[in-house]
Amino acid sequence: RNNAEKFEFQAEVSRLMDIIINSLYSNKDIFLRELISNASDALDKIRFLSLTDKEVLGEGDNAKLDIQIKLDKEKKILSIRDRGIGMTKDDLIKNLGTIAKSGTSAFVEKMQSSGDLNLIGQFGVGFYSVYLVADYVEVISKHNDDKQYVWESKADGAFAISEDTWNEPLGRGTEIRLHLRNEAGEYLEESKLKDLVKKYSEFINFPIYLWASKEVEVEVPADEDESTEEETTESSSSEEGETDKVEDEDAEDQPKTKKVKETTYEWERLNDVKAIWLRSPKEVTEEEYTKFYHSLAKDFSDETPMAWSHFTAEGDVEFKAVLFVPPKAPHDLYESYYNANKSNLKLYVRRVFISDEFDELLPKYLNFLKGLVDSDTLPLNVSREMLQQHSSLKTIKKKLIRKALDMIRKIVDEDPDESSDKEKKDVDASSDDDEKRGQYAKFWNEFGKSIKLGIIEDAANRNRLSKLLRFESTKSDGKLTSLDQYISRMKKGQKDIFYITGPNKEQLEKSPFLERLKKKGYEVIFFTDPVDEYLMQYLMDYEDKKFQNVSKEGLKLEKDSKLKELKESFKELTKWWKSALASENVDDVKISNRLDNTPCVVVTSKYGWSSNMERIMQSQTL
Ligand code: ADP
Ligand code: MG
Repeated sequence: RNNAEKFEFQAEVSRLMDIIINSLYSNKDIFLRELISNASDALDKIRFLSLTDKEVLGEGDNAKLDIQIKLDKEKKILSIRDRGIGMTKDDLIKNLGTIAKSGTSAFVEKMQSSGDLNLIGQFGVGFYSVYLVADYVEVISKHNDDKQYVWESKADGAFAISEDTWNEPLGRGTEIRLHLRNEAGEYLEESKLKDLVKKYSEFINFPIYLWASKEVEVEVPADEDESTEEETTESSSSEEGETDKVEDEDAEDQPKTKKVKETTYEWERLNDVKAIWLRSPKEVTEEEYTKFYHSLAKDFSDETPMAWSHFTAEGDVEFKAVLFVPPKAPHDLYESYYNANKSNLKLYVRRVFISDEFDELLPKYLNFLKGLVDSDTLPLNVSREMLQQHSSLKTIKKKLIRKALDMIRKIVDEDPDESSDKEKKDVDASSDDDEKRGQYAKFWNEFGKSIKLGIIEDAANRNRLSKLLRFESTKSDGKLTSLDQYISRMKKGQKDIFYITGPNKEQLEKSPFLERLKKKGYEVIFFTDPVDEYLMQYLMDYEDKKFQNVSKEGLKLEKDSKLKELKESFKELTKWWKSALASENVDDVKISNRLDNTPCVVVTSKYGWSSNMERIMQSQTL
């Protein structure tokens, strides 16, 4: 087009598009849910704005918040239209091509290694999946603050933007036209599109319509219609279903009629938008929760969430919530943990989506959860900033933490591998058990670090979180064990919980600090994650038992009557030794009963850094 402005895609985006266009990835279906999800986001945005300014919605059809899918079989065009917020010219340039999101390069990298496009939505580049099925795409968009524009690209490194002077005015919103590739003909089949919406977009909170054909039988005068057996009527300008019926004006004079098939078109609703969280948990099936999770988390792997909790909070602050433990930790969970503001909960107020960036809803350590909160107590017509300061949020947060920890606790309780030996005998091994077997170990592998960060950060819930802590020990036989299990195995007279820190279990097992303890049958916990050193600065005791690092001073085993005698007889030696090493090098030289074969060890002081901590600080691994 003559007046089109040309732009080049940002390099990362261009690379991503190349990969997509040349992808042999077989599941091309994903583009549709990405487009529907974008349409739904755009509708959420305009609805949110309309809370404080009704005018933004406009009148008539413009105010209809829905998503419309249409097919043009002849021209091989699939279009998806929404009356969402739309994009200004600047938005089009920025959002669809020039400013790469932080996720782009991460996704390109992941694509190159795994080839799996399923997670594209999580990386914030879902739009480009259109090039799985189309070789030419037009985005027509109208934002309230700007004129109507067309963005277009053949994915050849460049895109063009023109003021739209030829298409029908949209009023407001966006229409994406996909000019399908020859091999993507299946997306011109209505049944295929219906299946896809059912499968991936069932829980979109706006009505999704398909301009669907319908065969109807109509009676027409027998003699008049000899030639046309079938008549196709398409009325694209009308929103209502319309049929070009042949009026039977002379029915009385000519009683002879015959039936013919006609194809008519009408908007067919594809989803049922009763929000899942408003339904009673008893009525929602496991499959529905799983699908809802997929759509909420944009996680379309085949896996089911590890756990969920769906509840209603009543009292001063009323809200409904659904929380999920994802099957896997997202790729960037612990990246810039302390700086990133990413909450994974969506906040709704009275069914209206408000934000998914409210980090006041959950503490950082629970950021791995996905879910949704819908509150009737919060005010609707205030700014996000004011909402952020609303006093009810504290109460909501507190309840959410409780429910989240209960949900995690339930994974433990339902996992037969987690019950103690005594309980094990009482539990019948049913098939249901097998499904849950090993679930907590799986949870721990994915999210254990979050629990540890919780112990560090959340003093109020430290004890609950400590119960969820898992580790290996000298007696755990390569399996994970808990503090409660450790305590149940403690030796008579043992007062402290013993642990040792180091880079890995293999190294720790050889530690001279363990010699004597092992020989005497004491259990020692192995802490091998760098975060464990920090953890143990906060976790001072558990169930009235103190934690003792066995490589630090202060290790007390059972009373040793000989120790005093030995100390006395070696007094001269220890004295000499201490002076020989000079006091800058060691604080003290002592006789101890912690060793067995090794003649001597260097012990760190009670309040000083352990040697492992020194190592961590030197390499700054955290
Ligand atoms: P994400 O949806 O994760 O942000 P996408 O690649 O799917 O990433 O979309 C990129 C951006 O393009 C969106 O953030 C949005 O700003 C804009 N966009 C895409 N589709 C629409 C639409 N239908 N209406 C308005 N804006 C849209
Ligand atoms: Mg998207």
